[in-house]
This record gives sequence, structure tokens and C-alpha cells, in this order.
Amino acid sequence: MATKNHAVPAIPIGYTTCLRHTLHVLLALGTLLEASLARSQLVPGSMDVHWNGGSQDCKAVVQPPIQVHAYNPRTFILRENLCATFEAPFIYLLVGSTKALLIDSGDVADPKLMPLASTVMQLLPADGPRKTALLVVHTHRHLDHRAGDEQFPHLSNVQVVGFDIDSVRHFYNFTDWPNGLAQINLGDRMVDVIPTPGHNETEVSFYDRNTGLFFSGDFLMPARLLVSDSSAYLASAQRATAFLRDRPISFVLGGHIELDADGETFPWESQYHPNEQVLQMTKDDLLALPAAITSFNGFYTRSGKFVLMDPMRILIALSVFAGVILIALVMAVVLYLRRRRVARKSYARVEI
Ligand SMILES: [Zn+2]
Ligand SMILES: [Zn+2]
Repeated sequence: MATKNHAVPAIPIGYTTCLRHTLHVLLALGTLLEASLARSQLVPGSMDVHWNGGSQDCKAVVQPPIQVHAYNPRTFILRENLCATFEAPFIYLLVGSTKALLIDSGDVADPKLMPLASTVMQLLPADGPRKTALLVVHTHRHLDHRAGDEQFPHLSNVQVVGFDIDSVRHFYNFTDWPNGLAQINLGDRMVDVIPTPGHNETEVSFYDRNTGLFFSGDFLMPARLLVSDSSAYLASAQRATAFLRDRPISFVLGGHIELDADGETFPWESQYHPNEQVLQMTKDDLLALPAAITSFNGFYTRSGKFVLMDPMRILIALSVFAGVILIALVMAVVLYLRRRRVARKSYARVEI
């Protein structure tokens, strides 16, 4: 019986190359379409705000202690005034259908000087006769991000999460810190929590799926990035970029502004920030962070728009340098006195 020839007709090499090229283009278009679709699904908001730049004479110029900017009707950015605290930290309030989230509580405890809790409670919508439940969390345990905690515990329907490492791990149920992710459910709004230690061991960052805002605390901001553990910092940057690379980010919002519009740092503890840089950073800034940390020399490095420094190491190096100078000075004085004594003795002998 004669067998039929089922051989597949050969496809010309040029044709397969063309087909592969078309497939690549289609895949790239699909990815672009997916990204723009994800971005278009974000609830929009505005960063059209001029932050109060403090004053050269805080005693003479009365400033409102807190500035509130509505990014959108359910997302608020609060900033403590530079005249109230040179730290001038940013605080974020996200309102969901069942719960609201306050990220950080600022640097001032006294409600008479900084009416944080009353300002936040006024921004919360009423849930029937009661205000929406409020959860107060922190990017990390440094005092300028949690001093305002004490204004909240006596209020009803408010929970304040502890700032120490055990409380953070326990609350978010991180069993393999700093690996893993956690979520905070605000009803119709989900927020991802990503461990980002390196500036501080308790640091976490927050990604709001609703707006695409990434709240990065002191981990990433237009300010000095103070590194206390560079390998942990790098691992955090890699962890955050791996999580966010394929997710839409509208803005990266950090804890402070310490740079002017030209990228120069304001002096330490300055209460006057003329021509301040904008708060918001971009997804590209986040994606550039691992390379910047890799280039960090352990003391002070400027890499692109990043200013990285390890204040503890700089302090130790300066102390060692000052010690060496002091020893050299003491030795020079001792040598000088010895020579003078020898010279006097030989002069006395010549006179005899
Ligand atoms: Zn800090
Ligand atoms: Zn801070």
C-alpha cells in the first residue's frame, strides 16, 4: 500500500523570522496595553500643591502647624510645619469603605502645638453615628514618625499599632522578616505592606492598589537617605522593585523633603526651605534605587538625584580624625617644650 507523504511544507527562513518579529511586537504591545489599562484603573488624584517652606524667623512669622492637601476626596497628605519641627514629616491618610489608615503620626506629641488627631478625625467621614474606624501605623520607629501616637489611644474606634520590631512583625504576621508581604484591608481599598529595612530595622513601605501611590517613608524620599545597614537597604530596594516593577505607580511619596529644586540639600535642622523640591518621586526613581545603593561608598555618596550617607560612620570617622589631630598637636607641643628645655640647658652651660 502506498503511503501518503504527510511532510509539512518547509517554511522559508525569512518568513519564520518575520513571524517571530511580529509575535514580539504583539507581545510588547500587549504588555504596554496591560500597563496602561492597569494605570487607567487607578483612582486619580492631584499633586498640585505648594508646601509651606517654613520661615527664616519662626518666632516672628506665625505659621499654621499643619498643612493638609487632598490628593483626592479619600486620600490626604498632611505635613507638619517646618516652624513646628525642622523634620517637617509627611503623614498620609487613606480612607476606605470600612476603615481608614493613618501612615505615621509625626514629630510633635503635644496636641496644643500640633492638632494632628483632631485634624485627622475631621477628615474622616461619619460611618452612621460613628466616625470610620482608624488604624494608625508607622513607616518605622523613629520619633519623627510616631511622636503623635499619644494623641490617639483615648479616641474611640482607633487602633494604634506598636512601632517596635516585634509589634510590627506580629501585627502584619511576618513570619520570615524581612521577606514576605502583608495586606491591610480598608474595605474597598487594599494596601500592600512591604518590609524595607536598611534606614531602620522596623521600616515598612505601603502600596495602595486604589491610587497606585507608594508610601516609602525614609526609605525613598527627596532628602538625605540615611543608611544604617547598606546590605539590608539594598535587599529592600531589590524587594520593592521586584514587587512593583509590573504594577502601576502614580507617585512615590516619602517622609521628608530636604532638597531644593536644584537637588542641593538644605542645612541640617533648617526651618526654612526656600524653593523646595516637590515631594513626589517616580517609578523610575524607585527602579534606580538598587544601583544607587550599590554605588554607596559607606560614608557619603551622591548618585543621580540620591544623596546617601551613613551618619554614624561619618561621626566615627570624624572622631578618629579629630583624635589623630589632637594626638599630633600634643606630640608637637611636647617636642617643642623638650627642645626648648634642651636649648636652655646648653645656653646655661655656655654662660658658665
Ligand atoms: Zn527615620
Ligand atoms: Zn524621618
